[in-house]
Amino acid sequence: MLKRRLMTPGPTQVPEEARLAMARQVTHHRTPEFKRLFAEVLEGLKEVFQTTHDVIALTSSGSGGMEAALANTVPRGDKIIVLEAGRFAERWTDIGHAFGLEVIRHEVPWGKAVDPGDVARLTSEHPDAVAVCSTLQETSTGVVHDLAAIGEVVGPTDALLLVDAISGGGVVECRTDDWNIDLLVVGSQKALMLPPGLAFVAVSDAAWQRIKAVEPQAFYFNLSTYRKKLDGGPDTPFTPAHTLLAALAENLKQIHAEGIEAIWRRARRLARATHAGIEAMGLELFAERPADGVTAVRVPEGIDGLALPKRIEQRFGVKLAGGQAHLKGQIFRIAHMGIIDELDIIGTLFAIEAVLYEMGYQVHPGEAAAAASRVLAAAEEPVVAT
Ligand SMILES: *Cc1c(COP(=O)(O)O)cnc(C)c1O
Repeated sequence: MLKRRLMTPGPTQVPEEARLAMARQVTHHRTPEFKRLFAEVLEGLKEVFQTTHDVIALTSSGSGGMEAALANTVPRGDKIIVLEAGRFAERWTDIGHAFGLEVIRHEVPWGKAVDPGDVARLTSEHPDAVAVCSTLQETSTGVVHDLAAIGEVVGPTDALLLVDAISGGGVVECRTDDWNIDLLVVGSQKALMLPPGLAFVAVSDAAWQRIKAVEPQAFYFNLSTYRKKLDGGPDTPFTPAHTLLAALAENLKQIHAEGIEAIWRRARRLARATHAGIEAMGLELFAERPADGVTAVRVPEGIDGLALPKRIEQRFGVKLAGGQAHLKGQIFRIAHMGIIDELDIIGTLFAIEAVLYEMGYQVHPGEAAAAASRVLAAAEEPVVAT
């Protein structure tokens, strides 16, 4: 018998209160009770996303939110710039192509962060681009991009800033309004600690103006349809996944009680502790600008990168994520978001170290956990604005 510990950067562990909420009998959504719950959830999300603008809830995985963002703001044939620095950023390009958009791909080597200076050059070279698409936390490489700086560059231009914060929203610092983010997409199964099935899109006023002027390439994902239902006690045009929304209400209570800034700080501490443990094993981080919600680690020379996470799972029940696409076998990834806590991190570091030891790699079991513990035992530092 193994105790399972989900340490992947999505889906993530779901808190007990949310799981119990989902065990209750299904209710009906055309009721005052649902409207109350939905209003509460949308307000709570605004705080998490640091926006005063509308938040739209879609019943889909995160990618549905990305599709909605593009299909509602960019007409067929128009130009977008994609800041392509990993597997998930490529999805913007794929969606763009599916909708017949002209995609200017700014390819950044995986593991590197987007240089805001390059964004400035691109927006001046392509003044006709109507959107710039970025990722906040690139889950495939463990990089967080400097959205504050990118937003400063894109803000004064005519282009909208579309951000995939599917895994970043709720764990890494993200100030949607202050950073000029026009459409922010967040998924349910990452830092929001829910099962998969919901996507959220925060929409700025400038984005709504664009949406009104554009013929949407969408029916189910037509954001105007959802917008109309928000007035007069929020409602949804289609049957919402209200079981998931009830669970979200439970998670938002806990998020609100702790405060979003404190949650960002907590994630940063866990990230630092993880980095310290990884470095103590003599391993290398993959990301040039490491994100607070996920750590990507290079598999060391001489170790089978596909066997490593498998053996860790078999031996300890700890589920890590491997690499995607050309990074398969090259990296592994550890999440530190949601309810993943200090002991999960310490235990996971030990599990990695113990299996590396078994595989003949030169480590001293216990050292990684010790290095991480020292970071966690130190006094809490104030969050540094990125
Ligand atoms: C998980 C993830 C996605 C994909 O989301 P789905 O819910 O699987 O559609 C997209 N972007 C990022 C950054 C992610 O972490």
